[in-house]
Amino acid sequence: AKAEGKGTFRLFEPAMAAQMLLRSRLEADMRRALTAGEFEVHYQPLVDAQTGAVTAAEALVRWRHPEQGLIPPADFIPLAEETGLIAQLGAWVLRTACSDAAAWPSTITLAVNLSPVQFRDDHLPDLVASILDATGFAAHRLELEITEGVMLEDEARTLALLTKLKAIGVSLAMDDFGTGYSSLSYLRRFPFSKIKIDRSFIRMLPEDSESAAIVRAIITMGACLGMATTVEGVETAEQYAFVAAEQCGQVQGYHVSRPLPFADFLTFLNLSAMA
Ligand code: C2E
Ligand code: CA
Ligand code: CA
Ligand code: CA
Repeated sequence: AKAEGKGTFRLFEPAMAAQMLLRSRLEADMRRALTAGEFEVHYQPLVDAQTGAVTAAEALVRWRHPEQGLIPPADFIPLAEETGLIAQLGAWVLRTACSDAAAWPSTITLAVNLSPVQFRDDHLPDLVASILDATGFAAHRLELEITEGVMLEDEARTLALLTKLKAIGVSLAMDDFGTGYSSLSYLRRFPFSKIKIDRSFIRMLPEDSESAAIVRAIITMGACLGMATTVEGVETAEQYAFVAAEQCGQVQGYHVSRPLPFADFLTFLNLSAMA
């Protein structure tokens, strides 16, 4: 900053320049981390709302940074999407999760998040098929979670890719349902078999009557469309009781368990099988 004389035309505010430097450092660090094996996949159990049995787990990526500790996905996924690095990271997550999940009881399905950016690659269905092939994980046990953001991509292409994915035998879940602008029309047009009700509708349950009405209506709508519903973000016994009474399919949330490292998830499975 000292070298900048008077009258120098400043394109950037210093704060903005610092921000950009930080971002390019983070990007380089992320590339390094991928090769160094610093990313981890944690698993959050999903239970059958009626029986309490573990029926699935959602794979959630974390970055175990040597200096900064465990970094949550919200701090690096957006940049990975902007830089295109999500393609490699996403493929790594899918491969790792399928290979981990191959060791679980066959009644347990695996849910993996796909970024809308991964849909820019026409080879996505081939990638999924080759990972299933390489890991020996059965296609019908894999569920891909997709947010409405994917519909902002070229719609005809998105539909073609989703149809191809479906043809492989995997199932598709609409994630964060209710937060977007046109969730309902997408449900009609795209081959989803499950709705995941966004956490924001659960937070004020069971006291808030508007949230309660919305959750009840989405579960009913799902049932009418022949779709399963998962409620995420269930943190209390009261919330669990409410959504179970409303006949939702699966429950996910801290009340059941936080996302767990692979070994801890296996322990959780064994303990819940004994219970
Ligand atoms: P998401 O797909 O909606 O995942 C659920 C998030 O809610 C997870 O946060 C999970 O830890 C958190 N959660 C679960 N139960 C509760 C609860 O009871 N209370 C609260 N407050 N939170 C709960 P996480 O792991 O930090 O992930 C955040 C987001 O990052 C995910 O939201 C997803 O959009 C993205 N993400 C995570 N892993 C991946 C990945 O491998 N690929 C892609 N593309 N995105 C990922
Ligand atoms: Ca998800
Ligand atoms: Ca979600
Ligand atoms: Ca979310």
